[in-house]
Formats: sequence, structure tokens, C-alpha cells
Amino acid sequence: MGNTAVVVGGGIGGLVAAIGLRRIGWQVTLVERAPMLDDAGAGISLAANGLRALDGLGVGDAVREASRGQYSGGTRTPKGGWLTRMDGAELEKAVGTPIMGIPRSTLHRLLREALPAETLLIGSEASSVEQISPGKVRVGCGDTVLEADLAVAADGINSKVRSLLFPAHPGPVYSGSTVLRAITGQAVDLRTDFELTWGRGTEFGHIAFPDGRAEWHAVLNLPAETRFADPLAELRRRFHNWHDPIPALLDATQTHAVLHHDVNELRTPLPSYTIGRIALLGDAAHAMTPNLGQGACQALE
Ligand SMILES: Cc1cc2nc3c(=O)[nH]c(=O)nc-3n(C[C@H](O)[C@H](O)[C@H](O)COP(=O)(O)OP(=O)(O)OC[C@H]3O[C@@H](n4cnc5c(N)ncnc54)[C@H](O)[C@@H]3O)c2cc1C
Repeated sequence: MGNTAVVVGGGIGGLVAAIGLRRIGWQVTLVERAPMLDDAGAGISLAANGLRALDGLGVGDAVREASRGQYSGGTRTPKGGWLTRMDGAELEKAVGTPIMGIPRSTLHRLLREALPAETLLIGSEASSVEQISPGKVRVGCGDTVLEADLAVAADGINSKVRSLLFPAHPGPVYSGSTVLRAITGQAVDLRTDFELTWGRGTEFGHIAFPDGRAEWHAVLNLPAETRFADPLAELRRRFHNWHDPIPALLDATQTHAVLHHDVNELRTPLPSYTIGRIALLGDAAHAMTPNLGQGACQALE
């Protein structure tokens, strides 16, 4: 096996693939189509498998330092009754860590900082990836053609590389729910680190961060591509009589901070994550719904 690689995609999966390959002595070029390497998402929870992978990549301590352990909380009803209680200390005893909550932009920055600038080819979209000989791959990015010993496609749920490698695969499908989420603009008085509240066809959850702000998400079972003129007003209308701190979390949020995405998943598994010297990783390979908080963790793993 040679020692040059092209990683397509600068999300969490692509960044960690590049970090990992460099740690075992490979020369890596990471190609990202966005003009700036960033992650605009809200928050993310990292479980033991993801944290163990980050430790293996040498960034676990920095990520823990910027995260908040999710020790208290659980699952509730809209009126506030508890369906289950979560005990992060017990989890820590069992698997060595509670789940950790961190703003996605912070996680992304910590991963970016682990890569030297010369590794990154930003603002460049990969349009072709092919194996040109038993030991070589070629990645076309506009006028730039890169040859290497390995290509890793971490180009996300709508992966171009996946459609090139597996043209008969149906691709992602709508899960039936759409998600609105944000990070609050200020600290909120929260009595727990993490909660999920289940209503009919609706879920609301929060993940608290070290500085007292929190990410919240509202999952609604609705037809694909449903959008609201004023998403925050719509959520206030739907959740005004749900238990504390749900209305307070919405009140602490600025309108422009709200993100709205349909939740898609790769329901038909791929026959393989590799073809020759081209490998798919992260959502390109196994995009899943966020219910278990495992999409990024499994990309890391
Ligand atoms: C609401 C929600 C909550 C979630 N919460 C959690 C959680 O708590 N814990 C968890 O572990 N996971 C969570 N996930 C899942 C997690 O966000 C994803 O699994 C993870 O971010 C996937 O990372 P990725 O690098 O594979 O893909 P992406 O983050 O999609 O990155 C793909 C990158 O490739 C770039 N790209 C695409 N095509 C090209 C191209 N042709 N050329 C160059 N660049 C290209 C894109 O611009 C992008 O930067 C959640 C997901 C959602 C939707």
C-alpha cells in the first residue's frame, strides 16, 4: 500500500479521516467544496465510541475540555412527567465517560486545528473519483486532478462519490420527520444537562453546553419540504404549553439562529463501503437518523 490519500469532504468524517491517515504517516489532501471550512450546525452529543476514536486521534482531551458531560436529565412527557431518568455517572462507571455535549462549530474547529493548512484544498468540488490502476486513484476537482494511492469519500449524505460507485443504489430517503434546531443566544437556567420530551408526532430536546447556553431541537412528523414563514413563531405556537425549560429555550433564541432540515437516511444499505482503493466514510456510507446521536460517532469510529 502506498502513502498518499485524497479525502473528499471537510465535515467531521473527512477531517478525522485526514487526521488519522496523517498520524500513520500518510500524505493527505483534503478537498472541500465550500469556500470556507466550517460547520454551521447546532450542537452534537458524543458517546463513548466517538470519544474513544477522538482519543486515538490525539484530540480527545481538547474535545472533552470544550464539552459538558451530560450527567442529568432523561425523557419526559409534554406536561413534564418523567418517563425515564438518565444517570451519566452510572454510564461513566460502565463505559468510562458520560455522553458529552459540544457546539458543532467548536468540534469542527478543534479538528481543523489538528491539520496543517497545506493539507486543505478549500473551495474545490470533486466531480470524479476513479481507480486508474490497481494501486492508483484519480480525483478530478475542476481544473485540478489529484492522483493518490487511496481516496476516502466523506462527502456526506448526498455523496457524489457514492452515486458514481453505486449508480443503482436508490440513495437517501425522507425519514418522515423534519428538524428545527438552534443554539440559544445566551445562558439558560437549566436544571438538567439533557432532555428529550415526547409528544404525539413531535419531540423536543436540549443539550447543555459548558457556558450555560444549550442547543435545542424540535422534531416534527410532517411532509417533506414543509417550511414555515417564521420558524421560531411556529415553534412557540406548538410548544408554548410544554414544560419548562422548553418555552425559555425558545425565548433565549435569536430568529436567525434557527436551522431547518428534513431528516433523510440511507435506508438501503450499501453492498460495501469500499471498492478497490476508494472508501466511503460517514454519512456517505451510512447516513442514519439522529435519534441515537450516533451519525458522527460512527464516522469517528
Ligand atoms: C439534527 C441532527 C442531529 C445530529 N446529532 C448528532 C449527535 O448528537 N451525535 C452524532 O454522533 N451525530 C449526530 N448527527 C449526525 C451527524 O451530524 C452526521 O452523521 C455527521 O455530521 C456526518 O459527517 P460527514 O463528515 O460524514 O458528512 P458532512 O458533515 O455532511 O460533511 C460532508 C462534507 O463534504 C463536502 N462535500 C460534499 N460533496 C463534495 C464534493 N463533491 N467535493 C468536495 N466536498 C464535498 C460538504 O460540503 C461537507 O463539508 C446529527 C444529525 C442531524 C441531522
